[in-house]
Amino acid sequence: MIPAVMPTYSRAKMSFVKGEGSWLIDEDGRRFLDLGGGIAVTALGHAHPALVKVLQDQAGQLWHTSNLYNIPAQQALAEKLREATFADTMFFTNSGAEAMECAIKMARKYWSAKGHPERNKIITFTGSFHGRTIATISAAGSEKLTDGFGPLVEGFINLEAGDHDALREAMDDTIAAFVVEPVQGEGGIIPLPDACLKGLRDMCDETGALMVLDEIQCGMGRTGKLFAHEWSGVTPDIMAVAKGIGNGFPLGACLATEEAAAGMVAGSHGSTYGGNPLACAVGSAVVDLVNDATFLTEVGRKAGLLRQKLEGLVASHPEIFELVRGSGLMIGVKCKVPNGDVVAAGYDQELLTVPGGDNVIRLLPALTISEEELAEAVERLDKAATALEEAS
Ligand SMILES: *Cc1c(COP(=O)(O)O)cnc(C)c1O
Repeated sequence: MIPAVMPTYSRAKMSFVKGEGSWLIDEDGRRFLDLGGGIAVTALGHAHPALVKVLQDQAGQLWHTSNLYNIPAQQALAEKLREATFADTMFFTNSGAEAMECAIKMARKYWSAKGHPERNKIITFTGSFHGRTIATISAAGSEKLTDGFGPLVEGFINLEAGDHDALREAMDDTIAAFVVEPVQGEGGIIPLPDACLKGLRDMCDETGALMVLDEIQCGMGRTGKLFAHEWSGVTPDIMAVAKGIGNGFPLGACLATEEAAAGMVAGSHGSTYGGNPLACAVGSAVVDLVNDATFLTEVGRKAGLLRQKLEGLVASHPEIFELVRGSGLMIGVKCKVPNGDVVAAGYDQELLTVPGGDNVIRLLPALTISEEELAEAVERLDKAATALEEAS
């Protein structure tokens, strides 16, 4: 009989019942070192005391009102993000895919409101991931995501990231926007070189096309800046955020410049839950903690240490690992054996990592992880690799 929970995931056998910082504790009391972070979600670790308090306090006050009314916590969060980013305005959602849906709708609406409804095509890149709704799987375009779910949403042109000629050729007056992840996450932790992001920005400036960044995985301090695009010096017109911003409370946002949001007037978009008082109370506290120069410098410092240790790990297990790449505490270790085997061998050492595209294992620890915990994680990975070598 089909499981009560629809079997869309092949799940590992652990069942976690408690979290503490970078640790997850299962039903049998086993303590796993969590380098997956619920896929880059628990940026401040599990059960962060300040966040627990904010959530509890808000839970006793007010959970939900409709967006038919002002939501003070939502306005406070929007002001904070406006202060900290390129954005003038934003729409709150419950998830990353919804933030991307808003971005796609906004880019189309921008041109139609300008009297150019024919300018509605959006360029995306191979290996990208933007969520699991019909529009966002159509955007990413890979067979793995779209198989069996057609007809897809029209108007996406999927190009090879490094293929500048194809890009120039595709760039005509039907293009509304580009959508790109500054660091591809699901695709296998592949940073887009700064020069490419700058080149895309220049192309947008020349043609008027909007630059949409998907920072759902790479944003919120993950790379050592509040948002990954800050490393390149360019700013987008629209940006999708989610994952880390709620630290596990479902929250996303679609940020935009005033110009890009020009078509988004009353009645054009909506959400029942998006930006409700509980979510925004937590989101505000997360932004306060992450958008702090000392905190972000620490992320960068720890990332450097981890990277160094991982280079050593790869060198000492050349049969298992191929290379390390990524940005900040968003790291991919490309494997020579199936990445699922490495993740499973990690489980045996009570270490959690996440598989990704291009046969990588992803390390997406809490940004609050300690140096000792990072050292412990690499030691456990070392043991996992040794166990794989001995088994082969
Ligand atoms: C996770 C992710 C999404 C989708 O977010 P959901 O909250 O699962 O809808 C979109 N884009 C990127 C880059 C992601 O990592």
